[in-house]
Amino acid sequence: MNRYEYRRPQMGTLFRLILYAPDEAAARKAAEAAFQRIETLEAILSDYRSDSELARLCRLGHHQPQVVSRDLFHVLERSLYFSELSNGAFDITVKPLVRLWQTAGKTHRWPDPVALRRARAKVGYRHVILNPRIRSLRLELSGMELDLGAIGKGFAADEALRLLRQAGIRRALIDAGGDLRLGDAPPGSRGWTVRIEDPKNGAQPGHLILHDCAIATSSGGYRFVELGGLRLSHILDPHTGRGIRQGGVVSVLAPDCLTADALSTTVSVLGPEKGMDLIHRIDGVEARIQVRTNGKTLTTVSDGFPSPSQPWPIATPEP
Ligand code: AMP
Ligand code: MG
Repeated sequence: MNRYEYRRPQMGTLFRLILYAPDEAAARKAAEAAFQRIETLEAILSDYRSDSELARLCRLGHHQPQVVSRDLFHVLERSLYFSELSNGAFDITVKPLVRLWQTAGKTHRWPDPVALRRARAKVGYRHVILNPRIRSLRLELSGMELDLGAIGKGFAADEALRLLRQAGIRRALIDAGGDLRLGDAPPGSRGWTVRIEDPKNGAQPGHLILHDCAIATSSGGYRFVELGGLRLSHILDPHTGRGIRQGGVVSVLAPDCLTADALSTTVSVLGPEKGMDLIHRIDGVEARIQVRTNGKTLTTVSDGFPSPSQPWPIATPEP
């Protein structure tokens, strides 16, 4: 078994595949299939590509139900699940607000209250109507737009690993710009060594040893716009219509990367207390929440979150 690594810019980030295969031809072929799958998903889920299925539906999908692809329907269904679970802290309809705050950041001008009100009137996951019988989507409010930026990369990472496994490669890691999907451990080891980074303070002390799971990290302070001395994160609280203010770092461990990705964003919005409550309510999910208040860094971890160098998950699931 040899180690192979491939990188490709996709979905607005850099995807990295690390895999163990008997020879380069096998590795390359499997990696190519995985990258192709990510490419297909990007063409479906991307909100910044005007030709994506999602973008097309946002132009057409108001009032009349539109039939959508299986992949898109799956991600939409999972998105609404996390919205219900978090009472709307996770909400893929935030796009009009994301756009407004991006413009505010570029022009260094606070958004006009009327524009803000208009954007907020287009937000609300309860107005995304899915019909599983005919696999359709309808957007109830005029001007609604969807943004899968908090969940799409996670799903793509899951799918990439699925394709590698289909090609017979089980010892693999998919890095979707910091959101990781991990397969079986590398040969002769207990797992993949993962370090959680704090964008401000660099690498955290200690590391995790993980296999057959996923870990995603969201950081409110990682990307932001600065307005009138305030830092407003790229993660929005749909209830206030604004970027969250705490510069925290949230890592979520889950059996799959779609869940880890969606929940790391959700918990960032909810904050440590409500966020941890939510994590406790979901089976097989653990979190580490770090917040900075008054110059002090406070870290909370859920009971089952692995301590450094203790392998997770504890038992290897049999295939
Ligand atoms: P992540 O990096 O996974 O935390 O995702 C952040 C991205 O998700 C942002 O850049 C927005 O495109 C989108 N987003 C922002 N706020 C929310 C929210 N409350 N719910 C769902 N998606 C969001
Ligand atoms: Mg996310």
